[in-house]
Order: sequence, then structure tokens, then C-alpha cells
Amino acid sequence: MADPRGFLKTPRQGAKARPVEERLRDWNEVYPAPGIGHTLLPIIVEQAGRCMDCGIPFCHHGCPLGNLIPEWNDLVWRDDWKVAAERLHATNNFPEFTGRLCPAPCEAACVVAIADDAVTIKNVEVSIIDKAFDEGWVAPLPPERLTDRTVAVIGSGPAGLAVAQQLTRAGHTVAVYERADRAGGLLRYGIPEFKMEKRHLDRRLDQMRAEGTIFRTGVDVGAAITGKELRARYDAVVLAVGSTEGRDLPIPGRELDGIHQAMDYLPQANRSALGEAVPGQLTAEGKHVVIIGGGDTGADCLGTAHRQGAASVTQLEIMPEPPGTRHASTPWPTWPLMLRTSSAHEEGGERVYAVSTVEFTGQDGRVTALRLVDVERTASGFEPVPGTERDLPADLVLLAMGFVGPEKSPLIEQLGVELDGRGNIVRDESFESTVPGVFVAGDAGRGQSLIVWAIAEGRSVAAAVDRKLTGVDRLPSPVSPTDRALAV
Ligand SMILES: Cc1cc2nc3c(=O)[nH]c(=O)nc-3n(C[C@H](O)[C@H](O)[C@H](O)COP(=O)(O)OP(=O)(O)OC[C@H]3O[C@@H](n4cnc5c(N)ncnc54)[C@H](O)[C@@H]3O)c2cc1C
Ligand code: SF4
Repeated sequence: MADPRGFLKTPRQGAKARPVEERLRDWNEVYPAPGIGHTLLPIIVEQAGRCMDCGIPFCHHGCPLGNLIPEWNDLVWRDDWKVAAERLHATNNFPEFTGRLCPAPCEAACVVAIADDAVTIKNVEVSIIDKAFDEGWVAPLPPERLTDRTVAVIGSGPAGLAVAQQLTRAGHTVAVYERADRAGGLLRYGIPEFKMEKRHLDRRLDQMRAEGTIFRTGVDVGAAITGKELRARYDAVVLAVGSTEGRDLPIPGRELDGIHQAMDYLPQANRSALGEAVPGQLTAEGKHVVIIGGGDTGADCLGTAHRQGAASVTQLEIMPEPPGTRHASTPWPTWPLMLRTSSAHEEGGERVYAVSTVEFTGQDGRVTALRLVDVERTASGFEPVPGTERDLPADLVLLAMGFVGPEKSPLIEQLGVELDGRGNIVRDESFESTVPGVFVAGDAGRGQSLIVWAIAEGRSVAAAVDRKLTGVDRLPSPVSPTDRALAV
């Protein structure tokens, strides 16, 4: 156990964000990495000392990866960062992604949180991995010997990367195919630089290349190479194509210019933030921006629009405003229903709850306003409140209302894999699709989820593929396809 009286004498101290006026002038991470220069590390050590090393560590169960949280908290408290990094990597291929981007269901499940503030698990995690990279402890781990088996992974998001790293290290020859010009999936072109600087991704990709993973970027599988060709060329195929088909809002006026899916906007902003020229870029500069959807994607649009110099930003949400603290319907250790204020929300803009957009109006073919109405939640859905219709001016509308499954690409048809009623690719308990030898990892099978689930699935799919290819159970499998977050 770390410090037996740690949580009694040390209050929680989370990561400290840079001042709003400073961070709005650049694209760098909002939270400076605690490991850099190691100046913040004594605070992290103290915070790790708050861990009680619970007999039943609920933090483990909150995390789909089954991270060994009390073990690394104890190691950090004892200043043994190198072993802490090894224990971290024992369950998570990419702690630098989850340490920055995960909403931390482990902290929601932390036992200290029953009566006090949770241990800062996520901040300890990111500090361990940043220090490990700084110290040069993160070395490539190529396999000792190669099998003669080959695997194609389609998609280079966190799920595809986790599958590829596990299978490469197990000795298989793995090629990752990615449609975009660079690998990373949503980590690269969805999630903004201010949440995770891409240098962290590039550093990990370098490690994977050095281990032997082959990356073929700029290849749209289904067009440049067919599903049939892939099946003939590789012993197994893993579909890790994500769930990026954005939910639309087919209401009057939808055809007007100036209304876009968030994922048409964010990738361009990400490219431009990294210094790339984006001809005809869709930008929020000087515009009244309305974001429809109150989730993560909407918050990323909000932070991006502010950095681009939007005149105003309003975020609309159909659900009522959640309570400020954990709602009784979601008791510890489940993921709490409560108001979440991300770093982007601290930077400005207005959040409007319990409203629905019924029409877009415009002039000369361009959107100029949204017609809104207040709604009340009933047993059958959302009912408009009579007399509450009003107009909200807008020059740019971003749709961030979630995703309805993988894109309907020719690849799905060529392979002949079945989709379920929600548009996700069907898989059995071994993550194998309805076509033998074709496996499914991450959002493509689960629906839009979290990075931590994508990595956990990637590890489990690698175990299933390895078992199929070698007939032996060798790799860890932290989740099954039907596992879900802790719920009441
Ligand atoms: C804007 C946004 C912000 C988010 N923020 C967070 C966050 O802060 N924290 C968090 O935990 N989760 C977040 N998420 C969710 C998280 O990013 C996803 O759950 C995760 O990336 C899923 O990983 P994946 O590997 O399954 O798919 P993806 O990351 O979607 O990767 C799929 C890849 O497959 C490629 N591909 C698809 N079809 C083909 C083809 N035919 N040929 C070749 N390549 C193909 C795509 O180009 C893409 O690169 C966010 C999602 C979005 C959209
Ligand atoms: S639940 Fe919290 S206090 Fe208990 S072991 Fe996990 S991090 Fe430590």
C-alpha cells in the first residue's frame, strides 16, 4: 500500500490547465504534461499516496483494460517510476492516449470517491508514461522469432493500433491499411491538438514501425485493394474501420450551405493547426457558430471554433441540464450522470439544454438561423413545449449528434460481412464476423465508444486472431464483445 494515511491528510489535486487567455492563442495541450521537466512529479507522488490499495479495487472494474492501478500508485509513491511504467504497459499499449483523453471511469469507481474526492488516477497514469518516454524507457519490443502468418488490419485508430502491436509482438507479419494520409484514426484527425498533441501519436507509431508493424497509408481498402484480394493475400483480416457515419438532421432547410457534419469540420481544423495548407477550409472565424449535440465531439468543435476566432458559439442539447453532482440513478461505482464541464466549456460559449431544432432558415442559399423549440421528456420521447419557438442566428452549424455505425463502404459488401440493426458489424464471442477469418475490433463492432474500449477490444481481438492462427492461448483478452461499462 502507498501511504496508509495518504487520503486522510492529502486533498485531491488534479491537473492544472493553462490560463484560458493563453491557451486560446495556440493549439497546444490545455494541460501541460506533468512529466516534462519533472517539476510537478513530487505532487504526483503525493497524489499517488492517496490510494488505499483496496482489497477489492473497484477502479480495476471501472476500467475495461483492467489497469493495475493500486500497483502503479504504490510504485510511484515509492519513486519506482520505471517498474510503474512496466506495470502500466502490462495492460495498456497506449497509456499516453488514455492518460490524456479518457473520461476516467476508473476515477468514478474509485473507493475513495464514496466519501471524498477520487484518487487522480488519470494524472498519475499520464505522468508515468511521459516520464518513461522522457527517460528513454519505452523501447521497441520486436518479436524474438517470426511465425509465417500474415494479418491485415484495416483502420489505424486505437483499436487497429492495439491489434497490430499485440500481433506484431507475437511474431505475426502485420500490415495496417489506412485510408487517410497518416495513421491514427480519430486520434489523428478527429481529436484536436489541444486535447492531445500529435507528437505523442507519432512517437508511438515510431515504436511500432521499429517493432516491425507495416503501415500502408493513403489506401482506401475496398477501392485500391478489394476485400477479396485481402482475403487471398493474408491469413486473417481485422476490420477496425471505426463508426464514423454521422447522424444527420433531416429537417426543412438542411440543404442550405453552412450546415456541416462535425467530422467535415474537425479534420480540416486539425490539419490547419499543424501547419498544413487546407484550400477552401471550413472555418469558424468571425462566424456565429451553433453546435447541435452536447457530447465530446461537440465540445471539440467548441474549443476549435474559439481558437479560430468565432464571433459566438452556442451548443445545443436535447436532454435537460444534468445535476451538478452524481445523480441518485447512477450511484457509485457506475459512470455518473452529472454535468460535465470540459476544458472547452471553460473557454466560453453558451450551453442551451432541453431544446430541439425544428427548421433551418436562410438567405440566398446560406443558413442564417435555426428555429428552436423547448422540449419536455416524456415516456414516448421529446414533446415540444407550445409557445417556445424562437430563432437563433447562425452562419455556421455543426452537427455533432453522434454516429450511426461504420461508413457504408464497398469493403463491407465485398467481404460479405453482416451488419446488425444499428449498422455495426456483427461478430461472435471471438470477435469473428459472419465471414470466417475476418475479425472486428473497436467502434466498427461496438458503435462509437471510447479510446479505452478501442484499446481493450484491440487486445482481445489480437488474442482471438492469434488463437485462430496458432491454436494456442497466448495473449491477454481483457474484454468480450458484449461487455459494457459498469451500470446499475
Ligand atoms: C471528435 C471526437 C472526439 C472524441 N474524443 C474522445 C475522447 O476525448 N476520449 C475518448 O475516449 N474517446 C473520444 N472519442 C471516441 C474515440 O475517438 C473512438 O471511440 C475511437 O477512436 C475508436 O477507435 P477505432 O480504432 O475503433 O476507430 P477510429 O479511431 O474511428 O479509426 C478508424 C480508422 O479506419 C479508417 N478506415 C475506415 N474505412 C477504411 C477503409 N475502407 N480503408 C482504409 N482505412 C479505413 C479510418 O480512416 C480511420 O482512420 C472521440 C470521437 C470523436 C469523433
Ligand atoms: S479504488 Fe481508488 S483507492 Fe482503491 S485501489 Fe483503486 S485507486 Fe486506489
